[in-house]
Amino acid sequence: MPKHIRSAWIRTLGQLAAVLVVALLLGWAIGYPWLVVTVVALAVVAWHYWRLRKLLLRLTARQRFEPAHGEGVWNELDRLLYRSQDEMRSRKRRLLDILRAYRAAAAALPDAVVVLERNTQRVVWFNKAASKLLGLRYPADQGEPLGEKLQPLPMAHWLAAGRNAEPILDAPSPVDSNTRLNLRLIPYSDEYWLLVARDVSKLLRLEQVRRDFVANVSHELRTPLTVVHGYLDMLDPDDTPEWKPMLVEMQKQSQRMTQLVEDLLTLSRLEAQDTLPDENVSMAPMLATLRREAEALSQNHHRIVVEDTAGVDLWGSNKELHSAFSNLVSNAVRYTPADGTITIAFAGEEGGGAVLSVRDTGYGIPEAHLPRITERFYRVSTSRSRESGGTGLGLSIVKHVLNLHQARLEIESEVGQGSVFSIHFTRERVHPRDDETPAATPDALTA
Ligand code: ADP
Repeated sequence: MPKHIRSAWIRTLGQLAAVLVVALLLGWAIGYPWLVVTVVALAVVAWHYWRLRKLLLRLTARQRFEPAHGEGVWNELDRLLYRSQDEMRSRKRRLLDILRAYRAAAAALPDAVVVLERNTQRVVWFNKAASKLLGLRYPADQGEPLGEKLQPLPMAHWLAAGRNAEPILDAPSPVDSNTRLNLRLIPYSDEYWLLVARDVSKLLRLEQVRRDFVANVSHELRTPLTVVHGYLDMLDPDDTPEWKPMLVEMQKQSQRMTQLVEDLLTLSRLEAQDTLPDENVSMAPMLATLRREAEALSQNHHRIVVEDTAGVDLWGSNKELHSAFSNLVSNAVRYTPADGTITIAFAGEEGGGAVLSVRDTGYGIPEAHLPRITERFYRVSTSRSRESGGTGLGLSIVKHVLNLHQARLEIESEVGQGSVFSIHFTRERVHPRDDETPAATPDALTA
């Protein structure tokens, strides 16, 4: 027991003993010692009850305790209660200050922040930027379902996806369609979600400027290059043997530059498109074309195998899908040493989709490079790519074409063993093959 409490107890018990002794003496003086002691003891008990009642009343009324000055256990109890009340109050004040500071920080954020109730998707709180970017009004929109408030945005569907909702990368603001927003949903607790909307108009404009710049430069380079290339083609290196090595190199480099410009223009064109025509892509003639191209490129140095077991055709753009497929086939031939095997397979997938895969037995790609391999100009080996006539843009084009077809590229590779590039098409992109000819068996098509 702490010292001051012990001394309060001793003092209270001492006072009680003193009162009882005085009462006994007084009682003896008047001839009724025990009667007087009993009355006085009852009075002491009554006084304690009165203090206890006072304390209970104060506690139930949540009254503020005053700092007590007297001695004894009751005053000590008052003092303790005053101190704990005081501590609680300052802790509450500190917490409130922190809460206010957080709210002020969230309110001052340049991004729109909206706190939603998870089950009802009603707005619990939002900051100033949410008024500016999403058009929410305080207090009218507090407690309202967010989906209704942001009508033009595909909110209902998106919010329903909840935890699995992919960020919306580019959506017009309901306030001003020129403002483009990036929206993400963060389920930060079991009860609440956070919706964060960022104004990405400037970023998208910059991206557009970059795209236009690349497209314009490529376009401007095309004409002079065609002229240079044309004249170089007219010169026969055998006519001037002393110039032969230079002419051959110039022809090779101008060919490379032309291919580079063409690839850059293809990429710019693909980037500017949101959708492509949905034509019937007949896979049997497509596979036959791919085989011819592979054979022409390989010049009998590789074994080319075509397997077609899917029995379905695709919906999409014939031209762009052919460009994507032939990019993969040309890579397989270029990055596989002589005597290797290239297998082009088109097969059905579980769930109704289809997969076109190009397998080679070539150099393979170290795993560390795989995540970046589809970036523009990303090469595992620059010299090998240049030697084989690559521009470093092939897989970028493939990725863009596939995005426009909602298809997915999967790459598996082992250094020294070979690589498999598989394009997975969803069920929506697949339809039964029209012609009556049965799907060719792998053996029948093997070269
Ligand atoms: P490039 O024009 O250089 O071939 P791509 O975008 O088509 O450019 O490919 C990027 C890089 O990926 C290539 O430089 C090469 O290093 C690697 N690569 C692509 N396909 C294969 C393959 N089938 N086997 C090995 N490496 C490959």
